[in-house]
Amino acid sequence: MKVCVVGSGYVGLVAGTCFAESGNDVICVDVDKDKIDGLKRGVIPIYEPGLKEMVLRNCEEGRLNFTTDLDLAVKESLVCFIAVGTPPGADGSADLQYVLSVARSIGRAMESFKIIVDKSTVPVGTADKVRAAVNDELGKRGTHIEFDVVSNPEFLKEGAAIDDFMKPDRVVIGTDNVRTAEIMKELYSAFMRKSNRLLVMDIRSAEMTKYAANAMLATRITFMNQIANLCEVMGADVMAVREGIGSDSRIGYDFLFPGVGYGGSCFPKDVKALVKTADECSYDFVLLKAVETANERQKAILSDKILRRLGSAGDKPLAGKRFAIWGLSFKPRTDDMRDAPSLTIINRLLEMGASVHAHDPEAMNEAKKHFGDRISYSVNKYDLMRGADALVIITEWNEYRNPDFDRIKELLINPIIFDGRNLYHPARMKEAGFEYLPIGRNGNV
Ligand code: NAD
Repeated sequence: MKVCVVGSGYVGLVAGTCFAESGNDVICVDVDKDKIDGLKRGVIPIYEPGLKEMVLRNCEEGRLNFTTDLDLAVKESLVCFIAVGTPPGADGSADLQYVLSVARSIGRAMESFKIIVDKSTVPVGTADKVRAAVNDELGKRGTHIEFDVVSNPEFLKEGAAIDDFMKPDRVVIGTDNVRTAEIMKELYSAFMRKSNRLLVMDIRSAEMTKYAANAMLATRITFMNQIANLCEVMGADVMAVREGIGSDSRIGYDFLFPGVGYGGSCFPKDVKALVKTADECSYDFVLLKAVETANERQKAILSDKILRRLGSAGDKPLAGKRFAIWGLSFKPRTDDMRDAPSLTIINRLLEMGASVHAHDPEAMNEAKKHFGDRISYSVNKYDLMRGADALVIITEWNEYRNPDFDRIKELLINPIIFDGRNLYHPARMKEAGFEYLPIGRNGNV
């Protein structure tokens, strides 16, 4: 099938590459000329395990192409995916300017029947707006060409994006047209090996499904964070509690790890957008508003602990203190720092007068865009600890799970570890001579 994907970011590039991998002819489009020029030379703009090899292979075999020429890509394709960003607007609602601008461009370029697919995360009712934008452009051209608009939200996780796309738990297709549903089923048939869950539903339900999924996951994380905070006060161990509740098959273990608050390019903005959508139709989504508030507080948990343990009086209570940070990306196996908790935590440490030295396996270049030289960076995960007052763990990269504790103890001024991800066992850390401060476990300050 001939497919174009407009927007070659995390979602568009992965989707386009995977569609090519399954034998389709794919053109990925972007307005960012540098990105497209780089992709043509085999330079992958993001870190995503397995992506580079797959892009190179499909380019070499001629199934995957990159262009800034949207007109050409649309003319050549039957199915046109819109996979551009939908960042939060000033009022928290999803900003649809990029989606609708692509819809208008498609309306200006198309010369035959097209299936236009909303892959971006967009609020209920967006398919109607996309349809209106395309019709508007066709009207200006004084022409009538048939097209269909489909909602096909994406559920991939950064860090496991290729696997998620190639073996999805489910694919959601929102359409009211039987013929279009069949074409979409054919396009996705190659990915239906793990589960045969291709769910065809009405467009509005498909649009809502994506927000409901992310809001549910953000709520689950937040619930566990609040249980962890209470465990800490009550002297209980949240990791034991997680085992205790996760073993209930109605609850399960996933997404119940306490930490420093959810971040990333999706949960914060999608929760905000759903609250806004609810507000717009006079529904007070009290639960999600509480989730947002609780998550903001959670991002301060680690810096509050540091302040309590190492702070002094005055308006710069951490002046003269030096911290080694492990982990900057919002989660492991990605270089994405959009809305990462590390941004809030590090900014707060800097405001309190501390100096910060950071390591991340993939996100240090991204971090430089946010912090510049306000912090320093180390490609070696131990070097930055020399002379530091404590180690602070923000992201649970695998390379932090079994470090050389003797070396850490030797390098730090004080053997103190603030662990925002509960990577180690408190009793073993005590035995090893560390003052260990995890989230929601016994012995915290
Ligand atoms: P991104 O910022 O990584 O990529 C968006 C790309 O679109 C950029 O390369 C940008 O240059 C390009 N673009 C913008 N306007 C354009 C235009 N008019 N024509 C062509 N290209 C244009 O964003 P992303 O993370 O891939 O997210 C895209 C959408 O998918 C969002 O709605 C997001 O919520 C959703 N989503 C993201 C994830 C994720 O994990 N990142 C997962 C599921 C869904």
